[in-house]
Amino acid sequence: MRTEFPDFRLGSVLATSFTGTLSERHGTAVERIPTPQRLIDWLAVYGLAVDSCTTAQLELARKLRESIHAAATAAAIQNALPASAVQVINDRSIQGRAAAILTPDGNRRWQLGSPSRVEDALAVIAADAISIIAGERDGKLALCASPTCQAAFFDTSQSRTRKWCEMNTCGNRQKKARFNANQRKNPKSAE
Ligand SMILES: [Zn+2]
Repeated sequence: MRTEFPDFRLGSVLATSFTGTLSERHGTAVERIPTPQRLIDWLAVYGLAVDSCTTAQLELARKLRESIHAAATAAAIQNALPASAVQVINDRSIQGRAAAILTPDGNRRWQLGSPSRVEDALAVIAADAISIIAGERDGKLALCASPTCQAAFFDTSQSRTRKWCEMNTCGNRQKKARFNANQRKNPKSAE
């Protein structure tokens, strides 16, 4: 019997794509890495292939994910960073082995330890989160305007006025909700 899992939402920023593996945090939450195998699959998509994953390692990953979410959310609204979240991010960054490798065609890829462990991949994600939260990268942390989402995302648009974590999901849903509300208020104008 084949089990259907929720699709991945693939963004271009590693750390916030990772926090997006739990979506609709303020609504009906969707867990997109419900099993160790799904974490393996997700990591592989981002060039962080690991050899295996235990349920304990999946828990480590989720703990890092929620810590990045908490720290990125605080940074987006210019609150103090929660100390426990900072601690988890730093622990994960320190406890993995990963080296940046320059490929012959001038791209960067990550070489994890051998064997490649989940901890190694998490260190790359933690370092990515640190670079964003520390403001080292060109962009701005913001929170999704969808009330059921409120995900922290990294806005790299030129005007820095992006409202939603993803146009295809939260953006469209908000637009539709607004359209329906207008129709109720103003039924004639919609005809
Ligand atoms: Zn959103």
